[in-house]
Amino acid sequence: MPELPEVETVRAGIDPVMSGATIKRADVRRPDLRWPFPARMAERLTGAKVLGLRRRSKYILADLSTSETLIIHLGMSGRILISGDALGQFHHDHPAPEKHDHVVIDMDNGARITFNDPRRFGAMDLGDTATLEDHWLIKDIGPEPLGNTFNEAYLIERLKTRNSPIKTVLLDQKLVAGLGNIYVCEVLHRTGISPVRKASRISSKRTATLVPAIRTVLGEAIAAGGSSLRDYKQADGELGYFQHTFRVYDREGAPCPTPDCTGQIARIVQSGRSSFYCPSCQR
Ligand SMILES: [Zn+2]
Repeated sequence: MPELPEVETVRAGIDPVMSGATIKRADVRRPDLRWPFPARMAERLTGAKVLGLRRRSKYILADLSTSETLIIHLGMSGRILISGDALGQFHHDHPAPEKHDHVVIDMDNGARITFNDPRRFGAMDLGDTATLEDHWLIKDIGPEPLGNTFNEAYLIERLKTRNSPIKTVLLDQKLVAGLGNIYVCEVLHRTGISPVRKASRISSKRTATLVPAIRTVLGEAIAAGGSSLRDYKQADGELGYFQHTFRVYDREGAPCPTPDCTGQIARIVQSGRSSFYCPSCQR
């Protein structure tokens, strides 16, 4: 499942071919993904200029000249492919649409954006730009982990009353937006906090260390995604998935990478999700 850094990589990848360009044609090839597409989606997209691309949590937001914003979520298996010769960066002919190509958007600069999603847990909707923060998909999402409202004081205050394991609490999208299983495991390892420790039982001093760790872990992954973009453009135009090595995620039995720690990475299941951590140095 794409996490926040992957979504940010996709946003950055389609930005050069979408921002400032006009949608010449939209081909909506089925009635729904996870939810039905909005009424007359193709018609509402056609002729709209893309003013800019933003990201909120794991949603890509394309603000349009029609005062609407196209909301895109990649779900479990969504991929975005770019083809065409826009800006001279792409040398791929438009391939014939494949089985799981559900939405195909042609820009007036020659780029084609294809949304492919075999499992169809992705989503697309249109909402009024002015009131987008009230959109039902977005209104309950907590602060952005890389933004200013997510800070040490906020996290300390919020964790005081939470008696669930810290791992589960950090996955709560109302607490902080877009943190997923992989990056929570990495953050907890870097801060030396055990995923099973109750959030309210972590000292303020240790809780505070989570904020810079979250920013660092996500920032490194976004940087890795950014450097992978050029390679993907040259390869097959597919955006969103890149090789990134994790210190603990999916590394059960591996030696702990913390200097001077002799522990081994263990896997446990919490709330139905795998947690990878080092029982020796995470307390
Ligand atoms: Zn360790």
